[in-house]
Amino acid sequence: PVVTRFAPSPTGYLHIGGARTALFNWLYARGKGGKFLLRIEDTDRERSTPEATDAILKGLEWLGLDYDGEPISQFSRVDRHAEVAHQLLAEGKAYKCYATQEEIAAFREAARAEGKSTLYRSPWRSADPATHPDAPYVVRIKAPRDGETVVQDAVQGKVVTRNELLDDMILLRSDGTPVYMLAVVVDDHDMGVTHAIRGDDHLNNAARQMMIYDAMGWEAPVWAHIPLIHGPDGKKLSKRHGALGVEEYQAMGYPAAGMRNYLARLGWSHGDDEFFTDAQAREWFDLDGIGKAPARLDFKKLENICGQHMAAADHAALLTEFETFLSATGASPLTATQRTSLSAALPFLQGSAKTFPQLVEKANFILASRPLERDAKAEKALDTVSRSILKQLTPQLQNASWDREALEATLNGFAEANELKFGKLAAPLRAALAGRAVSPSVFDMMLVLGREESLARIEDAQE
Ligand code: GLU
Repeated sequence: PVVTRFAPSPTGYLHIGGARTALFNWLYARGKGGKFLLRIEDTDRERSTPEATDAILKGLEWLGLDYDGEPISQFSRVDRHAEVAHQLLAEGKAYKCYATQEEIAAFREAARAEGKSTLYRSPWRSADPATHPDAPYVVRIKAPRDGETVVQDAVQGKVVTRNELLDDMILLRSDGTPVYMLAVVVDDHDMGVTHAIRGDDHLNNAARQMMIYDAMGWEAPVWAHIPLIHGPDGKKLSKRHGALGVEEYQAMGYPAAGMRNYLARLGWSHGDDEFFTDAQAREWFDLDGIGKAPARLDFKKLENICGQHMAAADHAALLTEFETFLSATGASPLTATQRTSLSAALPFLQGSAKTFPQLVEKANFILASRPLERDAKAEKALDTVSRSILKQLTPQLQNASWDREALEATLNGFAEANELKFGKLAAPLRAALAGRAVSPSVFDMMLVLGREESLARIEDAQE
């Protein structure tokens, strides 16, 4: 069975690239009926913070990337990592190196002077343990000196490293703490990880990690090193390109389903499909579809895909997500009436908004309460003539039955009788009902707001 993992370092926010890595691992596991695990790589005690872990968990939750079991703290496993180093030591696949920093620096300097490789070759590799001093030491792996180490990467293909270029990597520091490279290998092995999809900034680590797998006689996971995300200008993504943290995208009001779809397309493709559901993504996702070239972040595309997901969303689920968005912006919770109105309005509102802030704007006629604050254009639409039109219309509306057919007949009849173009009538009505010059259709608004509220707003507008 497939086991994937996301292994972020909790040193900041959940980076958009990290979110994509998590998504790929999640899609792969879910699509293959496997498990998706979360490992918090918190061994750097100075840079790791609980707030950063929290931000990662929140980001994953927002994106709907659920993981199996509890998150695993890498730091909590240091004893196990050290145990593996000691096993290698006992098996003669690693050795104690007593070289001091000064000795190593002197070695490098001499090598440089002679124009030789500065790769450190410790004399302790072949020293007789009987000659070991009583002094601090590091534990180094006995790296193979001949031949090559091959990493068969699912994205990059075969990556060959000549072993003469590999040094006897340190496994345990002189204070006995394991290095990161060892921790990753031991954790991935113990967690049963079969596929590790991660940023290609880790590609160079793979050969070194492979040495540890080989020394332990363990099987390495299938690695898929994915190209990093670039900005629209093709340069490495950075702050000046815009938002980096996933929570910023959440705050900008992109719907999570649209975000998943867009992130999935960022570096992975399935034919020409741009818009797809989660179920399709799970079914289609495969390592073969991951591109070798860095994908470029494109906000326009993100927004378009989000718009399609808004339009296609299940009304009730969208309402829940909208409420979560509103509460995150500090807006007061919806009243029962507003919720009912929104449920009724979403079917005609959601197709015209790409983000939640856009939906807020479209739903202003529901979210705002009397007396409505009108924007300048709405105010302009309510000139003296328009107000008198509303005044004459009011008694007819009071007598109309409140359904679409009757309202259409009333307004059309009124426009005809007064030789008004429908727009001349709709503009002040729109301003009165929505406080905006742009809004959903006046019929839709009147039906959602109901007779009492609609008439009250129309009367307010005549003052
Ligand atoms: N903690 C590493 C990172 O955040 C990931 C290492 C890995 O996936 O093997 O880049």
